[in-house]
Amino acid sequence: MFRPVSSKANFPQIEENILSLWKDKSVFEQSVDRRQGAPRFVLYEGPPTANGSPGIHHVLSRVFKDIIPRYKAMKGYYTPRIAGWDTHGLPVELEVEKELGFSGKAQIEEYGVARFNERCRESVFGYLKEWEALTERIAFWIDLKHPYITMENNYIETGWWAIKQMWDKGLVYQGYKVTPHCPRCGTSLSSHEVALGYQDDVEDPSVYIKFRVSEKSSGNLPMDKPAYLLAWTTTPWTLPGNTALAVAADAEYVIVEVENEYLILASARQEAVGLGEAPVVAKIKGSDLQDLAYEPLFNPHSFGVERQRFQGNSELQPQEADKKLTYRVIAGDFVSMEDGTGIVHMAPAYGEVDYETGKDKGLDFVHPVDLQGVITGTYPFSGKFVKDADPLVLKDLAERGLLFRSEKVRHTYPFCWRCEAPLLYYAKQTWYIRTTAVKESLIAGNAEINWYPEHIKYGRFGDWLENNVDWAFSRERYWGTPLPVWQCESCGSYECIGGVEDLKGRVGIAGLKEPLDLHRPFVDEITFTCSRCGAKMRRVPEVIDCWFDSGAMPVAQHHYPFENGSLLEDGRFPADYICEALDQTRGWFYSLHAISTLLFERPCFKNVICLGHILDAEGEKMSKAKGNVVEPMVVINKYGADALRWYFFTAAPAGNVRRFSEAIVADVTRRFLLTLWNVYSFLVTYANIDRFTPSSEEVSPEPSELDRWIISELNQLIVDVDSALDGYNPTEAGRKIEGFVDELSNWYVRRSRRRFWKSENDADKLSAYTTLYHCLVTLSKLLAPFTPFLAEELYQNLVCSVLPESPESVHLADFPVADESKIDQRLMDDMRLAMRWSSLGRAARSKAGIRVRQPLQTNYVGVSSKREKEALERVKPLVMDELNVKEIRTDSINKVAALEQKGYVVVSEATTNSAIQVFIPDDLKKEGTAREIVHRLQTMRRSAGFDIADHIITYYQGDNYMKGIMEDRDLGGYIKQETLSRQLVEGVPQEGVSTESYKLGDHDILLGVKKEVG
Ligand SMILES: [Zn+2]
Ligand SMILES: [Zn+2]
Repeated sequence: MFRPVSSKANFPQIEENILSLWKDKSVFEQSVDRRQGAPRFVLYEGPPTANGSPGIHHVLSRVFKDIIPRYKAMKGYYTPRIAGWDTHGLPVELEVEKELGFSGKAQIEEYGVARFNERCRESVFGYLKEWEALTERIAFWIDLKHPYITMENNYIETGWWAIKQMWDKGLVYQGYKVTPHCPRCGTSLSSHEVALGYQDDVEDPSVYIKFRVSEKSSGNLPMDKPAYLLAWTTTPWTLPGNTALAVAADAEYVIVEVENEYLILASARQEAVGLGEAPVVAKIKGSDLQDLAYEPLFNPHSFGVERQRFQGNSELQPQEADKKLTYRVIAGDFVSMEDGTGIVHMAPAYGEVDYETGKDKGLDFVHPVDLQGVITGTYPFSGKFVKDADPLVLKDLAERGLLFRSEKVRHTYPFCWRCEAPLLYYAKQTWYIRTTAVKESLIAGNAEINWYPEHIKYGRFGDWLENNVDWAFSRERYWGTPLPVWQCESCGSYECIGGVEDLKGRVGIAGLKEPLDLHRPFVDEITFTCSRCGAKMRRVPEVIDCWFDSGAMPVAQHHYPFENGSLLEDGRFPADYICEALDQTRGWFYSLHAISTLLFERPCFKNVICLGHILDAEGEKMSKAKGNVVEPMVVINKYGADALRWYFFTAAPAGNVRRFSEAIVADVTRRFLLTLWNVYSFLVTYANIDRFTPSSEEVSPEPSELDRWIISELNQLIVDVDSALDGYNPTEAGRKIEGFVDELSNWYVRRSRRRFWKSENDADKLSAYTTLYHCLVTLSKLLAPFTPFLAEELYQNLVCSVLPESPESVHLADFPVADESKIDQRLMDDMRLAMRWSSLGRAARSKAGIRVRQPLQTNYVGVSSKREKEALERVKPLVMDELNVKEIRTDSINKVAALEQKGYVVVSEATTNSAIQVFIPDDLKKEGTAREIVHRLQTMRRSAGFDIADHIITYYQGDNYMKGIMEDRDLGGYIKQETLSRQLVEGVPQEGVSTESYKLGDHDILLGVKKEVG
């Protein structure tokens, strides 16, 4: 006997019970341990930061991370899975700053770095319990008890080792370069971080500025009136940093006259700038403008700002104050004729091209903006944040007649991906990893990786590698892996430290405190003696990019090479599988790939599923501000984790953007989970009545056509699901299962109902049980990686309760193997035709307005080939039964269509049609009434709460027509058999009977049912 199953499923409750079963029996641990010695399958967990609540998008990535290893474990692989937590970096610092009400680095310094970092350490696990609870609740099986944690000394030490490897290969350098800088966070961002934060449609000023040509410098240009070089910018705040204007040497420029002044600009831009009508005084070449001197818009010396000049490379020399300062026009090959005026404003402190040009041409360098993005000096707009200074700069220029035109432009602009402050491009000292030196290896390694979806490989990720730039990996921050570089106070030389022993072995080591904490400020206090000059060496102030931490996880999680020295050879490296959202192509996917290539010259993951983002039901991005964030636990408590998992796997392919709403999860529950549940509850209910006990999973020796068909479909399903999961495509696999369950429920079980219902326990009934049982047990195993709870529920009841020698959980079972000899393609094709003809016939009935319970004489089916005619012969009994007709005939499609003239209703499809006769003879009418009576009695049995197997006595009262049906041997016998009525008694007792009266056609009938006792 199976445990009885209610027809109403409470999935969240069932799931809670199964969670405790798994815990009691340590099923996850067992599922890993029992495969020891088998080939490994390695998942790398991309570590989340546990300093905020997990969201619905975390559920998405976590269930996709879960499904593949579950499948591989059932396929026989050894699949330990290690959890990880990302604990360093700006995200953590920003949360703590918010808590403390800080707005920048000065307040942190004042508060104390030790105290601040202690707060960071506490805050990183603020939501750990929530993360663990959710992880467990959605059945993401991963070892949460022994996670890797990026802030632990061992983890940091491996990071140091990795940096030292790169240092020794000459791949780490300090550059004075223009970097994208977040003024709010006070630190540089790497280019992959910049890529995370572009916003479209940002409004900025678009302004045309007049630079006065110096009178002394007119050369042979017409200079009888004041002359101005016209340049364009969208960042007015950079104008005080202007130290040159650039022109294209070969392009044509014009001098036009406007309001008694001369304006100089490129001919190609005259029209676009709105000067098409202005009279041209002269046409010249760009090279004629070269070296022309002009007056600075803002002489830095008048505003208390230092002026420096490039000497050779990156070095800058301070310059004397100069009241009559002029700058000059230079030629550059970067000058575009697509926008602006063809004369480019150059501020070497604020742009990469500007900076490089400054170095080349020995330009001046003026940088009146501090690291918070505030203008320094004594300008009218000093003390303002740069973006707020923009209008004031323009006002000042307008007052002096130097603003030609001012508009707004909408364009794409980068913002800080963490704090959303606009990024500013600054010349700063930054530590780099020379990833460009291994660009070819990065590209070659990518060729070995399987990307799902495939287009990411040479699209988003491949492009990123093709356009590789060095990794700016230092951060002027506090809570992170300290950059293990020490500098000599006296001779300035650097040394990189590769681990704790390396550090402790330095001559003159001091400031080392036990227990050792490899964070700031403690490592900052450690000094040793310079091996070159004997002076003191101190650590540089920077920490490193937290993406370096997470990207180093393949080695750092195992404290390699200090422990686990065989890591690279023993199967734990590289990973077989990783999975995260699409934005990680420039985040974790890249940092993993870069570090692995730099250290080992090979990729560290073989297969990667790249997930699309989740939007709300209207296609809007979810955000707290909009109030459209979905709380995962709310959905799970209502529908269960399986419903959510199934929705994520099957609703859209992994890489697609998906819209999320509770309504869709509800729909999934109805469409799939409940359909499966109903089949399961049907089997259990009837099997218990008939005391069916499976002795093994062998298929029945005498299968019917229908049985052979569903077994064929089942074996085909195993092949399909296995190959889709093997190809990292859970969506296709899930959709195949969904299709199968639909056919199992709406064709196999429907067409087999009678076989289960009939009273004799013959071979046909046994075959039906054996077949349906086999289907459900196999489904439980196929579903185990998708919906682990429902799969377990089915397996526990159908297998464990009756076959004690089986594995004690479906997750300890082997994945099903198809018996391809049972796949009969012809039979499956024929059955598909049967379903098609049935649905056409039902459509014809409904068009004629005749219920299916009313038997009809003839159904004509239009066939177009001998093949179809044969198929119909084979499946005819099923279609007749389904359509409730006495006979099916075939004819050509045209002839069937012509039946419309002879009182038939015809419904057509592209290659077939179906016709039913509308006229109903008396005997069929009576049979129809008998069926209606059966239907009413069934409903009454159910409302009276009788068990399916209870026998009853049926009472009735009606006219002669009704009495005739009840007393008819065949019809009465049929009613008795279908409703388990021992007797049909005329006259309804007043008491002890549930009664209902009905009008069936033109006749009334009063029915009563009573359970037969004993
Ligand atoms: Zn920021
Ligand atoms: Zn030294």
